[in-house]
Amino acid sequence: MNHQDLTNIAREHGSPVYVYDAEVIIAQYERLVSAFAKAKQLRVHYAVKALSNISILKLFKQLGAGLDTVSLQEVELGLVAGVDPKMIIYTPNGVSLEEIEKVAAKGVQINIDNLSILEQFGSKHPDVPVCVRINPHVMAGGNANISVGHIDSKFGISIHQIPHLLRIVENTGMNVNGVHMHTGSDILDIGVFLYATEVLFETAAKFKDLEFIDFGSGFKVPYKEGDVSTDIEELGEQLSERFNKFCDDYGKDIALAFEPGKFLVSEAGHFIAQVNVVKQTTSTVFAGIDSGFNHLIRPMLYGSYHGIKNISNPEGRQRFYSVVGYICETDTFAQNRQIAEITEGDLLAFSNAGAYCFSMASNYNSRYRPAEVLWHNGKSHVIRKRETMKDILKNQEVVELELATELAE
Ligand SMILES: *Cc1c(COP(=O)(O)O)cnc(C)c1O
Repeated sequence: MNHQDLTNIAREHGSPVYVYDAEVIIAQYERLVSAFAKAKQLRVHYAVKALSNISILKLFKQLGAGLDTVSLQEVELGLVAGVDPKMIIYTPNGVSLEEIEKVAAKGVQINIDNLSILEQFGSKHPDVPVCVRINPHVMAGGNANISVGHIDSKFGISIHQIPHLLRIVENTGMNVNGVHMHTGSDILDIGVFLYATEVLFETAAKFKDLEFIDFGSGFKVPYKEGDVSTDIEELGEQLSERFNKFCDDYGKDIALAFEPGKFLVSEAGHFIAQVNVVKQTTSTVFAGIDSGFNHLIRPMLYGSYHGIKNISNPEGRQRFYSVVGYICETDTFAQNRQIAEITEGDLLAFSNAGAYCFSMASNYNSRYRPAEVLWHNGKSHVIRKRETMKDILKNQEVVELELATELAE
């Protein structure tokens, strides 16, 4: 998509607006599939939480992907999108047994990440095959908040508890059909990741009826020029070979599974906002936009970097700006960033806005959540309308309390 396409969409649908380029999603999906072409069997489950619009889920279904879900509601969205429940894996953390049972009743693949629930579920439903989430205690993450494989993590069943896990499986007579790990976001070092997979292979060999091994996700995508990202092709080459050898030793061809979110949708997304005010202080030039962390929270939450281009003046002289939102607390998208000269009314395009942007948006400050537009073959399709005051009021019940007369003055 070029600047003109993005500008036209913002003019037509208003700002702020999220725009997703379907071709980029398709290209990333195909890149992943070809990287693992040598693996005996590959299953890609798109992580719904990254971007959960039903039209996006439908696109993944058309591409042949399954879904990775973390809540009953994500499962239901997948079913609304027409995805076969057998193509959905449910990997919750800390949810109730009741929720897991509801999802299992829909025919979705269950992935359990603690021994307490595993024992309860296995005792009640020994016929439902489950996958177990293992914590290999390997830290592959980029940011302390998003690494989930290390020793203090709340995720997964520790490899030190495998004997206990095996006893539960034996006592309940349940069937473990998959083993899983998700060592955290932002895999930079393939060596570290492959080391974690060795731990998982070792664990997998202890189960007799596996259908798949799920290596989770955490592929890193580039945010700016020169950024290091996961070398998917190299990882695909090495892991496929190692996986096929595992299948030979195991005596059965099982599937190699992944569940990427960010890798598949991050770069496809653009967030377009308009500059309301340019404000010069003694030390800084602020560009204040018609949005805030209510629409895109990643910079404030994780310190994430999003590229920002002035698409109304792309060739303008480069100047330094702090790009800020309209929320009434610190609300900074970028500090001291070089951007082509900004005039009030200009449109700014934020890159890497496909993953964890709209899906984390809120109505804070009672603002509407933006529209979402899917771009394909030179055409834009609105896949979610901008909210209105109706949405803000939707579930509110108006109660007027009867106060004591002296208070009600
Ligand atoms: C969030 C999540 C993913 C996706 O992670 P990305 O970094 O977006 O690829 C995959 N698996 C599980 C279990 C997750 O919680």
